[in-house]
Amino acid sequence: MDDLAFGTRNKRGDWTPHETVKLPPLCAWPPRPVELLKWLPSYLFPWNAFHMATALAYWYWVVPDVATMKSLSWGWALWLYAVNAAAIFVMYGSIELFFYVRRKQGTQFKFNGRFPADHPSDVFRFKSQNIDNVLRTFLVGIPCWTSVEVLLLWCFANGYVPWLSWADHPVYLAALVLVAPIIHEVHFFCIHRLIHVPILYKWVHSVHHNSINATPWSSLSMHPVESLLYHAVALWHLVIPSNPIVGLFQLHLAGFGALNGHIGFDRLQIAKGVTLDSHAYAHYLHHKYFEVNYGGDGLIPLDLWLGTWHDGSKEGDARMNERFKRKRERLNAKQQAAA
Ligand SMILES: [Zn+2]
Ligand SMILES: [Zn+2]
Repeated sequence: MDDLAFGTRNKRGDWTPHETVKLPPLCAWPPRPVELLKWLPSYLFPWNAFHMATALAYWYWVVPDVATMKSLSWGWALWLYAVNAAAIFVMYGSIELFFYVRRKQGTQFKFNGRFPADHPSDVFRFKSQNIDNVLRTFLVGIPCWTSVEVLLLWCFANGYVPWLSWADHPVYLAALVLVAPIIHEVHFFCIHRLIHVPILYKWVHSVHHNSINATPWSSLSMHPVESLLYHAVALWHLVIPSNPIVGLFQLHLAGFGALNGHIGFDRLQIAKGVTLDSHAYAHYLHHKYFEVNYGGDGLIPLDLWLGTWHDGSKEGDARMNERFKRKRERLNAKQQAAA
C-alpha cells in the first residue's frame, strides 16, 4: 500500500496523514445521532472488545479463587505479575519485533521517519531507548499495574466494597462497561495534566517524555509515581458499585491500552490487504509538542474545551503556536516584573 496516497513525507522522512484526528461524536453539540450510531462499532471493535476479552480470560483462567485472594500473599501477586509480564511481552514485543526490528513495512505510515535503535542517546540507560524502556516496563510499569490489581481483587474478595453480580444487575454492569473508557479518558487527562505542572514534570513525567520518538516499549515506561497514578484508574471500581471483571477491564484499558498511543505508525499492515488503525496520531503529537493532547482519543474532548487540542492540521499548528507565544510573553512579563 502506498502511504503517499494517504499523507505526505517531509525531507526528514516524517510522514503526516492527510486526514486530521477526528474527535468521537459522543459529546458533539448539537448532538449528531446518526453519526453517533455509525461510530459505535468503532468504539467497540477492535480495541475495547479486545480489552474486555482479556478481562474475561483473566477472570476465568488467571485470577485465583476468592478464598485465596482474601489474604495478601506473594504467591498470587507474583503469579499475576508473571501473567501480566508475559502478556505484555507477547503483545508489545510482537509489534516491536515485526515493525521495529524486522521493519516489515519500513517507514510506510511511520510518523517519525527514524527508528530509535539507530540513534543512541545519552538520556537512556546504556544509551538505548529500547533497553531503558523495556527495563522500566518490567521493573516499574508492570509491578505498579500488578499492585493496583492485587489491591482491587483483595478488596472485592474480602467484601470491603459492594460486589454486584451479573445475574442481578446485568443492565447496570453492561452500562458500566460502556462507560469505563470514558472513566479512563477523564482520569488519564487529569493525572496527565497534573504531571505536566513544571515541578512534577521535571521530577516524574520527564521519564516518559524522554522517548520523543515513542515505540511500543515506551507505553509503560514511566516513573513509579506516574505509573501508580495511571493504573489507579481501576480503583474507581472500589468507589462506584461494580464487579471485579469490570475493574479488570478498566485496568486492561490502561495496561494493554497504553500501546495505542505509542505504536508510532498510523496503520499497521498485519496481513496482505489488511491494515489495523493504530489511533496513535493524537498521542504522537503529544510526544512531539508536549503541551497538546493531554487526553487519550478525546472521547470526552477535554483538550478541545480547554484549548489544548491538536488535530494534526495546519490550523492546529497555528493555534498551538499562538498559545505558546502567549505563554512566552506571560513568562517574559513575569521575569521583567521580578527584575
Ligand atoms: Zn506517551
Ligand atoms: Zn505528557
